[in-house]
Amino acid sequence: MNIPFVSFKPMEKELDAELRAAFNRVFDNSWYIDGKEDAAFEESFAGFCNSKYCVGTGNGLDALVLPLKALGIGEGDEVIVPSNTYIATALAVTYVGAKPVFVEPIIDTFNIDPTKIEEKITDKTKAIMPVHLYGQPCDMDPIMEIAKKHNLYVIEDCAQAHGATYKGRVVGSFGDAAGFSFYPGKNLGALGDAGATVTNDEELAKKVRALGNYGSDYKYHHIYKGNNTRLDELQAAFLSAKLPHMDRMNEERRRIANRYLSGINNPLIVLPFVREDVVPVWHIFAVRCEDRARLERYLSDNNIGTNKHYPIPIHMQECYSDLNIKEGQLPIAEEISATELSLPMYYGMTEEEIDYVIEIVNNFK
Ligand SMILES: *Cc1c(COP(=O)(O)O)cnc(C)c1O
Repeated sequence: MNIPFVSFKPMEKELDAELRAAFNRVFDNSWYIDGKEDAAFEESFAGFCNSKYCVGTGNGLDALVLPLKALGIGEGDEVIVPSNTYIATALAVTYVGAKPVFVEPIIDTFNIDPTKIEEKITDKTKAIMPVHLYGQPCDMDPIMEIAKKHNLYVIEDCAQAHGATYKGRVVGSFGDAAGFSFYPGKNLGALGDAGATVTNDEELAKKVRALGNYGSDYKYHHIYKGNNTRLDELQAAFLSAKLPHMDRMNEERRRIANRYLSGINNPLIVLPFVREDVVPVWHIFAVRCEDRARLERYLSDNNIGTNKHYPIPIHMQECYSDLNIKEGQLPIAEEISATELSLPMYYGMTEEEIDYVIEIVNNFK
């Protein structure tokens, strides 16, 4: 058996006709930017996120940059981000001219530790960006409480968590705004780059839309020095074809994850911890192992694809050497970086494939 880390094939095969119909619809309509496909997807995705407004963007990074900018966050400001996340979270803060301030995660859930946020708040702090990493919702109640107490904005990074819920409420609906990525590998993926910002604030939505469209509120009228980062009609049409299948496909990921959670039993492997009050969407199934390199090689020798999320923590990346954070200063992020391994997880894994992964992982000595 040969099991890749990820495969889009089973999903693409199932949605083949719908995706081709989406292409035909756009091509026949001969309209490619800012049209009815974009509007239709935005409306249905806002509904999916239990939010009033959705603004399509060119990618997930911009879906985070635009609300930060729209909220007036920039030079001289600080934004709290988790130390364990994809680099885009920190880069969004950097791009608006503010400084990312890292808070360590809880090692069991991999997500930002709410009890460590307040000690990092200064008079420059303007916002908190919780990341629902690997598809597991953050502990949002204490985060929202801290934000309220210190008068901070909350911008959720939902790039890995489309449809995940915390205490029955879908992620992206807690903060002032949320950014989603539709990078092809995400739970809801386009056939190229795409993203969206969701919010319940009408003024904020308008500003985000203008900022992503050359700062223009209506044609050839520019109120901001904006950017060009829009969701194009083709990607919107593909996303509209996929969105109705989202809950079912997330449910399938949960089934695979639950098989892993109940089937994998090996003292050398630490399984991910799931809070009782969340429903995760398992963008990534992350395990930890002290001897990760050997586990990785062993799985590869047995034709099981894996990945690392992420092999170098952000504060150790060359591009962030200016922050002057030394090795050892964010030990939990470093520990996760050194021990985390992601097992195969994608819609359409067969029973035999799941069983095979479990068996091989259990036989690791
Ligand atoms: C993928 C991702 C992003 C960025 O999304 P892109 O569409 O690749 O720009 C941001 N944050 C997190 C946590 C991500 O995983």
